[in-house]
Amino acid sequence: MRLQWGLIGGGESSQIGAAHRLAARMTGTLELAAAALDIDAARAREYAIRLGVPRERAYGDWREMLECERRRASRVELVTVATPNSSHFEITRAFLEAGFDVLCEKPMTNTVAEAEEIVQAARNRQRICAVNFGYSGYPLVRHARAMVARGELGRIRVVTAGFAHGHHANAAEADNPRERWRYDPAVAGVSSVLADCGIHALHLACFITGQQVESLSADFASTIPVRQLEDDALLAFRMSQGTVGRLWTSAVAIGRAHGLTIEVYGERGGLRWQQEHPNQLYWTPLGAPTSIIERGAAGLSVEADRASHVTVGHAEGFLAAFANIYADLSEVLQARKAGRPADPLALSYPHAEEGLLSIAAVHAAADSARAGGAWVKLAPVPGHGAPRGA
Ligand code: NAD
Repeated sequence: MRLQWGLIGGGESSQIGAAHRLAARMTGTLELAAAALDIDAARAREYAIRLGVPRERAYGDWREMLECERRRASRVELVTVATPNSSHFEITRAFLEAGFDVLCEKPMTNTVAEAEEIVQAARNRQRICAVNFGYSGYPLVRHARAMVARGELGRIRVVTAGFAHGHHANAAEADNPRERWRYDPAVAGVSSVLADCGIHALHLACFITGQQVESLSADFASTIPVRQLEDDALLAFRMSQGTVGRLWTSAVAIGRAHGLTIEVYGERGGLRWQQEHPNQLYWTPLGAPTSIIERGAAGLSVEADRASHVTVGHAEGFLAAFANIYADLSEVLQARKAGRPADPLALSYPHAEEGLLSIAAVHAAADSARAGGAWVKLAPVPGHGAPRGA
């Protein structure tokens, strides 16, 4: 029996809605049963009906969806929040408090206090609040994490992460309303490119090393001067087991299409991975030649095997990575329903504690940048990175 899935935001013209719908469908275990897809009520209803959502569950507004779904005997079992950032907190909190399990887009909230409230709401109601750091669903990212956890790299000395693209490099476009809001603190909060893009790179650094960021120093720049928020940022950070971290994120790196990269260097070897070539992981043991680990090849970790869907040599990518997050959540929810333990391999999906640490790091970076790069400490987040059950 498929689980009933609900989607809020992700309307027809949105950037990320199609990825969620396709990814959820790829799992084969989720059915789009209810939706409030658009800020415009008529468009929201019309598009949901076109996608096959029953008319009475094609809602014009998320509050209407919440009120109707909570009264149903058979209600949505997982709700994705894919609206713009400033509404994540209100919607996610409302659904958690009403006892729904939620997958929230990143950044989970705009402020640290809001993120703490979400963590608390999920704990109080014993609900799942996952956060869509979808790149952690890539098979070779999971393989890298497994290699680090098994100690193959030894103690991790350095992690260097990047997310630099060039899509906001045209100064003549800086006043275009579709771009301008991203650099307006009233709408975007304390950070632009770090909160939007760099946050993924930072999450990967934590996900693969199994560590938290403990302190950081940041340099923010608005290379196009009309921008009030940064379009380029450089972070130095220290992690909970002593790893030294470096992160560069940019929106003005002309020629870079997406630019998410991660490199992990331990005492016994180094790993390198690029999201634009996600099916290869470069592995160099100390004193030995570099080898290319191909997704889908024999001999990979069980974590990578579980996340791979087609045979070696056939490219797998972004949608399949999102689908792996959905598959994990689906397994955990099905297990809870059946009263059985979930597959332990399904428990690495990012959750609210990771959303909290990420937004705390963004705020610490903004504080540091304002203070000329002064080092800022982050409070430890209990439960960060720990496997999550139902
Ligand atoms: P977008 O502006 O392209 O689309 C937003 C959609 O939400 C639109 O359909 C809009 O009508 C709808 N919407 C707005 N307010 C709503 C409300 N109150 N109720 C219902 N629907 C509402 O935005 P996007 O680029 O699709 O980004 C959405 C979210 O996804 C953002 O938080 C963004 O950070 C995140 N995102 C994540 C990834 C990722 O890799 N995880 C990638 C891109 C975007």
